Amino acid sequence: MKKIAILGATGSVGLQTFDVVRAHPELFQVYTMAFGRNVDVAIPLIKEFSPKRVVVQDLETKQALLQEGTSAEVVVGSTGMVEVSADAEVDVVVNAVLGSVGLEATLAAIRAEKQIAFANKETLVTAGHLVMEEAKHHDVSLLPVDSEHSAIFQALNGERKSDVHKLILTGSGGSFRDLTREQLTNVTVEDALKHPNWSMGAKITIDSATMMNKGLEVIEAHWLFDTPYEDIDVILHKESVIHSMVEFKDNSVIAQLGTPDMRGPIQYALTYPSRQRLPSPKSLDLIEMGKLHFQEMSFERFPCLKMAYEAGKVGGTMTTVLNAANEVAVALFLQNKISFLDIERLIEKALQRHQVIHHPDLETILAVDVETRAQIRENV
Ligand code: NDP
Ligand code: MG
Repeated sequence: MKKIAILGATGSVGLQTFDVVRAHPELFQVYTMAFGRNVDVAIPLIKEFSPKRVVVQDLETKQALLQEGTSAEVVVGSTGMVEVSADAEVDVVVNAVLGSVGLEATLAAIRAEKQIAFANKETLVTAGHLVMEEAKHHDVSLLPVDSEHSAIFQALNGERKSDVHKLILTGSGGSFRDLTREQLTNVTVEDALKHPNWSMGAKITIDSATMMNKGLEVIEAHWLFDTPYEDIDVILHKESVIHSMVEFKDNSVIAQLGTPDMRGPIQYALTYPSRQRLPSPKSLDLIEMGKLHFQEMSFERFPCLKMAYEAGKVGGTMTTVLNAANEVAVALFLQNKISFLDIERLIEKALQRHQVIHHPDLETILAVDVETRAQIRENV
């Protein structure tokens, strides 16, 4: 029985993690859950899973929980997340929190040598070098939850790193795949939130529409698999059946296929190296699919992807800026304060303005993150 801490418990990945736990009560026990402010979603989960510890974003949320008469110990803020990630009682930390706010908890889980099921890509984009250095030092691997990275992780199983030619990430194209750039001028938040294949949280659904999600994933792959950007390709694959591939030196390509259901990669990261029955009624039916489609990815159509590759290649604090600018711009779009195309404009401006700092330490990263967020808000 593994005791798990779920960070981002009330979110899309968090809720699907509870589904996996529900299906395998003999394997997992929820020891901790951390969330932001969504008390309405959290309360039934606390009642069902009786975690010993709960982390919330602020004191107000703590008060609201205590009024409900919870018996769990309630801790607050990012220091709370750090504390529970290093808790000696916890075996596995599922990091499914949204945004670079998950960075310090990730470092804490690594230092405490936990098994880590890792969804929180913004953390690797903002400070990949720090996270991977720490992971190497403690001999801890981040088991990927992101479906593309889980696919690559599975394709690399038992292979030699020196035999890899390149990684090929697939992307569905998001909600606006079939629109021209001109047609993007007046799209609404509601339109952007309609992803054709995956049901996900709001921020990542917008990131999929701008293709920044794929950009963040390229950077995530660079760090997780220690692969240069030149050896990471992205192709459009609208069915989201092939979750990603690895091409080897001998031209052989290994792909991982599945239905677009995040519980697959979540469960694999929790049960690795074993496999268990998935709590899902539907397996992949290739006959029903009939055809799979592939298309070249255009940097002109999706400038956010281009910016992500460029920022990744520059490295240092450039990707910290990319991530912070994107987080704020997407939040502003979701609040209807800027247009869809303003997202890429704001990020581009932030990147152009930034004087890169190479090999930044944690303090520098946190400072650049705060400064970038403030500058973006001032510019709107
Ligand atoms: P959601 O927006 O659905 O959920 C985010 C979770 O993080 C919520 O539980 C939220 O709490 C919590 N949270 C946000 N800010 C804070 C904070 N400051 N302190 C504590 N908790 C906080 O996001 P997703 O589940 O979609 O995504 C989570 C991560 O997983 C992201 O990094 C995303 O890129 C990645 N990912 C997601 C996939 C998906 O299918 N959704 C697929 C692959 C990767 P609350 O709502 O209570 O405020
Ligand atoms: Mg993904």
